[in-house]
Amino acid sequence: MQIQTKLPKVGTTIFTVMSQLAAEHAAVNLGQGFPDFPVPARLVDALTRAMQAGHNQYPPMSGVPVLRQAIADKTERCYRWRPDVDAEITVTSGATEAIFNAIHAVVRAGEEVIVLDPCYDCYEPAIELAGATAVHVALDPVTFAPDWAAIRAAITPKTRLLMINSPHNPSGAIFTAEDMQTLTTLLRGTDILLLSDEVYEHIVFDGVRHESALLYPELRERAFVISSFGKTYHCTGWKLGYAIAPPALTAEFRKVHQYNVFCSFNPVQHAFAEMIEQEPAHYETLGAFYQARRDSFRQQLLTTRLKPLPVPGGYFQLVDYSAVSDLPDLEFARWLTVEHGVTGIPLSPFYAAPPPGQRLLRLCFAKNDETVNRAIERLSKL
Ligand code: PMP
Ligand code: GLN
Repeated sequence: MQIQTKLPKVGTTIFTVMSQLAAEHAAVNLGQGFPDFPVPARLVDALTRAMQAGHNQYPPMSGVPVLRQAIADKTERCYRWRPDVDAEITVTSGATEAIFNAIHAVVRAGEEVIVLDPCYDCYEPAIELAGATAVHVALDPVTFAPDWAAIRAAITPKTRLLMINSPHNPSGAIFTAEDMQTLTTLLRGTDILLLSDEVYEHIVFDGVRHESALLYPELRERAFVISSFGKTYHCTGWKLGYAIAPPALTAEFRKVHQYNVFCSFNPVQHAFAEMIEQEPAHYETLGAFYQARRDSFRQQLLTTRLKPLPVPGGYFQLVDYSAVSDLPDLEFARWLTVEHGVTGIPLSPFYAAPPPGQRLLRLCFAKNDETVNRAIERLSKL
Protein backbone atom coordinates (compact mmCIF):
# COMPACT_ATOMS: atom_id res chain seq x y z
CA MET A 1 0.00 0.00 0.00
CA GLN A 2 1.27 3.46 -0.91
CA ILE A 3 1.03 5.97 1.93
CA GLN A 4 0.79 9.59 0.82
CA THR A 5 2.39 11.58 3.60
CA LYS A 6 0.42 14.49 5.00
CA LEU A 7 3.64 16.12 6.20
CA PRO A 8 6.19 15.83 3.39
CA LYS A 9 8.51 18.44 4.94
CA VAL A 10 8.72 16.74 8.34
CA GLY A 11 11.70 14.60 9.30
CA THR A 12 13.30 13.92 12.69
CA THR A 13 13.62 17.17 14.66
CA ILE A 14 16.99 18.89 14.68
CA PHE A 15 16.99 18.57 18.51
CA THR A 16 16.77 14.77 18.34
CA VAL A 17 19.25 14.56 15.47
CA MET A 18 21.83 16.62 17.36
CA SER A 19 21.25 14.85 20.70
CA GLN A 20 21.79 11.48 19.00
CA LEU A 21 24.95 12.71 17.30
CA ALA A 22 26.19 14.09 20.64
CA ALA A 23 25.60 10.71 22.30
CA GLU A 24 27.37 8.82 19.48
CA HIS A 25 30.43 11.02 19.78
CA ALA A 26 30.39 11.54 23.56
CA ALA A 27 30.12 15.28 22.91
CA VAL A 28 29.12 17.86 25.54
CA ASN A 29 25.49 18.47 24.60
CA LEU A 30 24.64 22.19 24.58
CA GLY A 31 22.11 21.48 21.83
CA GLN A 32 18.63 20.34 22.80
CA GLY A 33 17.21 22.78 25.34
CA PHE A 34 16.95 20.99 28.64
CA PRO A 35 18.43 22.00 32.00
CA ASP A 36 20.75 19.59 33.78
CA PHE A 37 19.91 21.06 37.20
CA PRO A 38 17.93 18.97 39.67
CA VAL A 39 14.18 19.49 39.90
CA PRO A 40 13.38 21.40 43.17
CA ALA A 41 13.27 18.84 46.01
CA ARG A 42 9.94 20.18 47.22
CA LEU A 43 8.41 19.48 43.81
CA VAL A 44 9.60 15.86 43.73
CA ASP A 45 8.30 15.41 47.26
CA ALA A 46 4.94 16.99 46.36
CA LEU A 47 4.64 14.71 43.31
CA THR A 48 5.36 11.61 45.41
CA ARG A 49 2.83 12.68 48.02
CA ALA A 50 0.21 13.36 45.32
CA MET A 51 0.62 9.83 43.97
CA GLN A 52 0.50 8.36 47.48
CA ALA A 53 -2.62 10.39 48.24
CA GLY A 54 -4.34 8.64 45.33
CA HIS A 55 -4.41 11.36 42.65
CA ASN A 56 -3.88 8.74 40.00
CA GLN A 57 -7.09 8.62 37.96
CA TYR A 58 -8.42 10.95 35.26
CA PRO A 59 -8.44 14.52 36.56
CA PRO A 60 -10.94 17.09 35.20
CA MET A 61 -10.43 17.68 31.49
CA SER A 62 -9.46 21.34 31.92
CA GLY A 63 -6.97 20.68 34.77
CA VAL A 64 -7.31 20.16 38.53
CA PRO A 65 -8.98 23.17 40.22
CA VAL A 66 -6.11 23.78 42.69
CA LEU A 67 -3.67 24.13 39.81
CA ARG A 68 -5.92 26.43 37.79
CA GLN A 69 -6.32 28.49 40.97
CA ALA A 70 -2.53 28.64 41.42
CA ILE A 71 -2.05 29.67 37.77
CA ALA A 72 -4.63 32.44 38.24
CA ASP A 73 -2.82 33.63 41.40
CA LYS A 74 0.57 33.61 39.67
CA THR A 75 -0.82 35.40 36.61
CA GLU A 76 -2.34 38.10 38.78
CA ARG A 77 0.92 38.56 40.68
CA CYS A 78 2.98 38.77 37.49
CA TYR A 79 0.68 40.60 35.09
CA ARG A 80 -1.81 42.47 37.33
CA TRP A 81 -4.77 40.70 35.74
CA ARG A 82 -6.58 37.59 36.94
CA PRO A 83 -7.91 35.06 34.44
CA ASP A 84 -11.14 33.25 35.33
CA VAL A 85 -10.20 29.93 36.94
CA ASP A 86 -13.04 27.99 35.28
CA ALA A 87 -13.48 29.70 31.93
CA GLU A 88 -10.04 30.92 30.87
CA ILE A 89 -7.33 28.44 31.95
CA THR A 90 -6.69 24.98 30.50
CA VAL A 91 -3.88 22.69 31.66
CA THR A 92 -2.18 20.80 28.82
CA SER A 93 0.47 18.15 28.22
CA GLY A 94 3.23 20.68 27.60
CA ALA A 95 3.19 23.85 25.54
CA THR A 96 3.42 21.71 22.40
CA GLU A 97 -0.06 20.29 23.01
CA ALA A 98 -1.42 23.76 23.77
CA ILE A 99 0.02 25.16 20.53
CA PHE A 100 -1.48 22.27 18.54
CA ASN A 101 -4.89 22.71 20.20
CA ALA A 102 -4.98 26.48 19.69
CA ILE A 103 -4.17 26.20 15.99
CA HIS A 104 -6.70 23.42 15.39
CA ALA A 105 -9.37 25.19 17.44
CA VAL A 106 -9.43 28.31 15.25
CA VAL A 107 -7.61 27.79 11.96
CA ARG A 108 -9.56 26.37 9.00
CA ALA A 109 -8.35 24.75 5.79
CA GLY A 110 -7.28 27.37 3.26
CA GLU A 111 -6.51 30.03 5.89
CA GLU A 112 -3.13 31.56 6.68
CA VAL A 113 -1.07 31.76 9.86
CA ILE A 114 1.80 34.24 10.11
CA VAL A 115 4.91 32.89 11.82
CA LEU A 116 8.12 34.81 12.49
CA ASP A 117 11.32 33.05 11.39
CA PRO A 118 13.41 31.61 12.90
CA CYS A 119 10.39 29.90 14.48
CA TYR A 120 10.03 26.95 16.83
CA ASP A 121 9.69 23.68 14.99
CA CYS A 122 6.25 22.50 16.12
CA TYR A 123 4.35 25.46 14.67
CA GLU A 124 4.29 24.68 10.96
CA PRO A 125 3.35 20.96 11.10
CA ALA A 126 0.30 21.83 13.24
CA ILE A 127 -0.67 24.55 10.76
CA GLU A 128 -0.28 22.18 7.81
CA LEU A 129 -2.32 19.42 9.48
CA ALA A 130 -5.11 21.99 9.81
CA GLY A 131 -4.95 22.38 6.01
CA ALA A 132 -3.73 25.94 6.40
CA THR A 133 -0.59 27.70 5.19
CA ALA A 134 2.23 29.08 7.30
CA VAL A 135 3.24 32.51 5.99
CA HIS A 136 6.85 33.06 7.07
CA VAL A 137 8.06 36.57 7.87
CA ALA A 138 11.72 36.84 8.90
CA LEU A 139 12.83 38.59 12.08
CA ASP A 140 15.86 40.86 11.66
CA PRO A 141 18.80 38.48 10.97
CA VAL A 142 21.07 40.29 13.46
CA THR A 143 18.84 41.63 16.26
CA PHE A 144 15.89 39.22 15.80
CA ALA A 145 13.50 42.15 16.25
CA PRO A 146 10.14 41.94 14.45
CA ASP A 147 9.86 43.79 11.14
CA TRP A 148 6.41 45.32 11.58
CA ALA A 149 6.20 46.64 8.03
CA ALA A 150 6.88 43.13 6.67
CA ILE A 151 4.35 41.61 9.08
CA ARG A 152 1.73 44.15 8.03
CA ALA A 153 2.47 43.41 4.37
CA ALA A 154 1.99 39.66 4.98
CA ILE A 155 -1.60 40.12 6.24
CA THR A 156 -4.29 39.06 3.76
CA PRO A 157 -8.05 38.48 4.09
CA LYS A 158 -7.15 34.82 4.78
CA THR A 159 -4.95 35.58 7.82
CA ARG A 160 -6.53 33.91 10.85
CA LEU A 161 -3.69 33.78 13.39
CA LEU A 162 -0.37 35.48 14.16
CA MET A 163 2.13 33.55 16.26
CA ILE A 164 4.72 35.31 18.41
CA ASN A 165 7.33 34.00 20.85
CA SER A 166 9.02 36.13 23.50
CA PRO A 167 11.55 35.43 24.98
CA HIS A 168 12.43 33.88 21.67
CA ASN A 169 13.79 30.46 20.89
CA PRO A 170 16.40 30.25 19.34
CA SER A 171 17.67 33.86 19.64
CA GLY A 172 16.73 34.99 23.18
CA ALA A 173 15.35 38.25 21.76
CA ILE A 174 12.37 39.79 23.55
CA PHE A 175 9.45 41.92 22.41
CA THR A 176 9.55 45.46 23.79
CA ALA A 177 6.58 47.45 25.13
CA GLU A 178 6.72 49.38 21.87
CA ASP A 179 6.44 46.13 19.90
CA MET A 180 3.36 45.22 21.92
CA GLN A 181 1.81 48.65 21.22
CA THR A 182 2.52 48.28 17.52
CA LEU A 183 1.02 44.80 17.58
CA THR A 184 -2.09 46.12 19.33
CA THR A 185 -2.57 48.76 16.66
CA LEU A 186 -1.88 46.27 13.88
CA LEU A 187 -4.55 43.82 15.04
CA ARG A 188 -7.15 46.41 16.09
CA GLY A 189 -10.30 46.12 13.99
CA THR A 190 -9.24 42.81 12.38
CA ASP A 191 -10.42 39.23 13.00
CA ILE A 192 -6.84 38.05 13.42
CA LEU A 193 -6.19 36.01 16.57
CA LEU A 194 -2.89 35.91 18.43
CA LEU A 195 -0.93 32.96 19.78
CA SER A 196 1.71 34.17 22.22
CA ASP A 197 4.23 31.46 23.09
CA GLU A 198 5.63 32.58 26.44
CA VAL A 199 7.29 29.40 27.70
CA TYR A 200 10.38 31.39 28.81
CA GLU A 201 8.24 34.09 30.54
CA HIS A 202 10.24 33.97 33.80
CA ILE A 203 13.67 34.00 32.15
CA VAL A 204 14.20 37.67 31.30
CA PHE A 205 17.37 39.54 32.25
CA ASP A 206 18.83 42.90 33.28
CA GLY A 207 15.73 44.09 35.16
CA VAL A 208 13.63 44.23 32.00
CA ARG A 209 9.92 43.34 32.24
CA HIS A 210 8.53 40.38 30.31
CA GLU A 211 5.99 41.87 27.92
CA SER A 212 3.27 39.26 28.21
CA ALA A 213 0.28 39.63 25.91
CA LEU A 214 -1.72 39.34 29.15
CA LEU A 215 -0.54 42.85 30.14
CA TYR A 216 -2.42 44.32 27.16
CA PRO A 217 -6.24 44.15 27.42
CA GLU A 218 -6.78 44.55 23.67
CA LEU A 219 -4.34 41.75 22.92
CA ARG A 220 -5.49 39.32 25.56
CA GLU A 221 -9.06 39.46 24.32
CA ARG A 222 -7.91 37.83 21.07
CA ALA A 223 -5.02 35.71 22.39
CA PHE A 224 -4.01 32.25 23.47
CA VAL A 225 -1.15 32.81 25.91
CA ILE A 226 0.81 29.62 26.37
CA SER A 227 3.40 28.65 28.98
CA SER A 228 5.23 25.51 30.13
CA PHE A 229 6.25 24.30 33.59
CA GLY A 230 9.09 22.36 31.98
CA LYS A 231 11.12 25.56 31.52
CA THR A 232 10.26 27.16 34.84
CA TYR A 233 10.85 24.12 37.06
CA HIS A 234 13.77 22.35 35.29
CA CYS A 235 11.62 19.37 34.25
CA THR A 236 11.17 19.39 30.48
CA GLY A 237 10.36 15.67 30.56
CA TRP A 238 7.26 16.14 32.70
CA LYS A 239 5.43 17.85 29.84
CA LEU A 240 2.94 20.06 31.61
CA GLY A 241 1.85 23.46 30.36
CA TYR A 242 -1.23 25.62 30.05
CA ALA A 243 -3.12 28.04 27.87
CA ILE A 244 -4.91 31.20 29.00
CA ALA A 245 -7.54 32.55 26.60
CA PRO A 246 -10.89 34.39 26.79
CA PRO A 247 -13.92 32.16 27.48
CA ALA A 248 -15.08 31.82 23.86
CA LEU A 249 -11.58 30.87 22.67
CA THR A 250 -11.06 28.57 25.66
CA ALA A 251 -14.32 26.76 24.83
CA GLU A 252 -13.05 26.01 21.31
CA PHE A 253 -9.57 25.16 22.60
CA ARG A 254 -11.06 22.59 25.01
CA LYS A 255 -12.98 20.89 22.21
CA VAL A 256 -9.63 19.96 20.67
CA HIS A 257 -7.91 19.25 24.01
CA GLN A 258 -10.79 16.98 25.04
CA TYR A 259 -10.26 14.66 22.08
CA ASN A 260 -6.54 15.13 21.73
CA VAL A 261 -5.47 13.98 25.22
CA PHE A 262 -8.67 14.55 27.28
CA CYS A 263 -6.59 15.38 30.37
CA SER A 264 -2.98 15.65 31.52
CA PHE A 265 -0.93 13.73 34.13
CA ASN A 266 -2.89 14.11 37.36
CA PRO A 267 -0.41 13.94 40.29
CA VAL A 268 2.03 16.44 38.82
CA GLN A 269 -0.77 19.00 38.59
CA HIS A 270 -1.19 18.80 42.38
CA ALA A 271 2.57 19.09 42.80
CA PHE A 272 2.81 22.25 40.67
CA ALA A 273 -0.17 23.78 42.50
CA GLU A 274 1.66 23.36 45.81
CA MET A 275 4.96 24.59 44.39
CA ILE A 276 3.49 27.73 42.81
CA GLU A 277 1.53 28.71 45.90
CA GLN A 278 4.13 27.88 48.54
CA GLU A 279 7.36 28.82 46.82
CA PRO A 280 6.70 31.81 44.53
CA ALA A 281 10.37 32.75 45.02
CA HIS A 282 11.26 29.95 42.60
CA TYR A 283 9.76 31.66 39.55
CA GLU A 284 10.43 35.17 40.91
CA THR A 285 14.18 34.50 41.09
CA LEU A 286 14.50 32.35 37.98
CA GLY A 287 15.64 35.32 35.89
CA ALA A 288 18.45 36.10 38.36
CA PHE A 289 19.38 32.40 38.51
CA TYR A 290 19.81 32.23 34.73
CA GLN A 291 21.32 35.70 34.43
CA ALA A 292 24.28 34.52 36.52
CA ARG A 293 24.67 31.48 34.20
CA ARG A 294 24.39 33.67 31.13
CA ASP A 295 27.02 36.12 32.40
CA SER A 296 29.50 33.44 33.38
CA PHE A 297 28.99 31.55 30.09
CA ARG A 298 29.57 34.73 28.07
CA GLN A 299 32.64 35.53 30.12
CA GLN A 300 34.06 32.08 29.43
CA LEU A 301 33.26 32.38 25.71
CA LEU A 302 35.79 35.25 25.58
CA THR A 303 38.49 32.57 25.69
CA THR A 304 37.17 31.19 22.37
CA ARG A 305 36.88 32.56 18.86
CA LEU A 306 33.08 32.33 19.00
CA LYS A 307 31.37 35.72 19.18
CA PRO A 308 28.39 35.82 21.52
CA LEU A 309 25.30 37.81 20.48
CA PRO A 310 23.25 39.68 23.12
CA VAL A 311 20.88 37.48 25.20
CA PRO A 312 18.01 39.48 26.75
CA GLY A 313 16.03 36.35 27.73
CA GLY A 314 15.64 32.57 27.58
CA TYR A 315 18.44 30.07 28.12
CA PHE A 316 20.11 30.01 24.73
CA GLN A 317 23.25 31.84 23.63
CA LEU A 318 23.72 32.46 19.90
CA VAL A 319 27.33 32.55 18.78
CA ASP A 320 28.73 33.79 15.50
CA TYR A 321 31.32 31.24 14.37
CA SER A 322 32.51 33.03 11.21
CA ALA A 323 36.00 33.59 12.70
CA VAL A 324 36.35 29.80 13.03
CA SER A 325 34.74 28.44 9.89
CA ASP A 326 32.82 29.32 6.77
CA LEU A 327 30.85 26.06 6.74
CA PRO A 328 27.04 26.36 6.49
CA ASP A 329 25.49 25.89 9.92
CA LEU A 330 24.26 22.28 9.56
CA GLU A 331 27.73 21.18 8.48
CA PHE A 332 29.42 23.29 11.15
CA ALA A 333 27.21 21.80 13.91
CA ARG A 334 28.06 18.27 12.75
CA TRP A 335 31.80 19.09 12.46
CA LEU A 336 31.89 20.66 15.91
CA THR A 337 30.27 17.56 17.43
CA VAL A 338 32.34 14.97 15.60
CA GLU A 339 35.72 16.71 15.62
CA HIS A 340 35.59 18.84 18.77
CA GLY A 341 33.05 17.13 21.02
CA VAL A 342 30.62 20.02 21.55
CA THR A 343 27.05 20.03 20.25
CA GLY A 344 24.92 23.06 19.43
CA ILE A 345 21.83 23.65 17.30
CA PRO A 346 22.06 25.18 13.80
CA LEU A 347 19.49 27.88 13.01
CA SER A 348 18.62 27.07 9.41
CA PRO A 349 16.01 24.38 10.32
CA PHE A 350 14.04 27.17 12.07
CA TYR A 351 13.66 29.07 8.78
CA ALA A 352 11.65 28.66 5.57
CA ALA A 353 14.48 30.59 3.86
CA PRO A 354 17.62 30.94 6.02
CA PRO A 355 19.39 34.30 5.58
CA PRO A 356 22.26 33.70 3.14
CA GLY A 357 25.66 33.58 4.81
CA GLN A 358 24.29 33.42 8.37
CA ARG A 359 26.91 31.68 10.54
CA LEU A 360 25.20 31.24 13.89
CA LEU A 361 24.93 28.35 16.32
CA ARG A 362 22.64 28.06 19.36
CA LEU A 363 24.23 26.92 22.62
CA CYS A 364 22.11 26.10 25.68
CA PHE A 365 23.48 27.48 28.95
CA ALA A 366 20.92 25.82 31.23
CA LYS A 367 23.75 23.57 32.35
CA ASN A 368 25.75 23.08 35.53
CA ASP A 369 29.29 24.46 35.85
CA GLU A 370 30.96 21.17 35.13
CA THR A 371 29.14 20.74 31.78
CA VAL A 372 29.87 24.34 30.77
CA ASN A 373 33.55 24.10 31.79
CA ARG A 374 34.04 20.95 29.72
CA ALA A 375 32.41 22.61 26.70
CA ILE A 376 34.49 25.79 27.04
CA GLU A 377 37.70 23.80 27.38
CA ARG A 378 36.96 22.17 24.04
CA LEU A 379 35.70 25.34 22.35
CA SER A 380 38.78 27.31 23.35
CA LYS A 381 40.87 24.92 21.20
CA LEU A 382 39.01 25.89 18.02
N1 PMP B 1 7.72 26.77 22.47
C1 PMP B 1 9.02 27.07 22.56
C2 PMP B 1 9.52 28.37 22.08
C3 PMP B 1 9.90 26.13 23.13
O1 PMP B 1 11.20 26.41 23.22
C4 PMP B 1 9.39 24.90 23.59
C5 PMP B 1 10.27 23.84 24.21
N2 PMP B 1 11.59 24.02 24.10
C6 PMP B 1 8.03 24.65 23.48
C7 PMP B 1 7.23 25.61 22.90
C8 PMP B 1 7.43 23.35 23.92
O2 PMP B 1 7.28 23.25 25.29
P1 PMP B 1 6.88 21.88 25.99
O3 PMP B 1 8.13 21.08 26.16
O4 PMP B 1 6.24 22.28 27.26
O5 PMP B 1 5.92 21.18 25.08
N1 GLN C 1 12.37 22.99 22.91
C1 GLN C 1 13.64 22.32 23.01
C2 GLN C 1 14.70 23.18 22.32
O1 GLN C 1 14.42 24.19 21.75
C3 GLN C 1 13.60 20.99 22.34
C4 GLN C 1 12.38 20.18 22.49
C5 GLN C 1 12.43 18.96 21.60
O2 GLN C 1 13.42 18.26 21.58
N2 GLN C 1 11.40 18.76 20.86
O3 GLN C 1 15.82 22.81 22.35
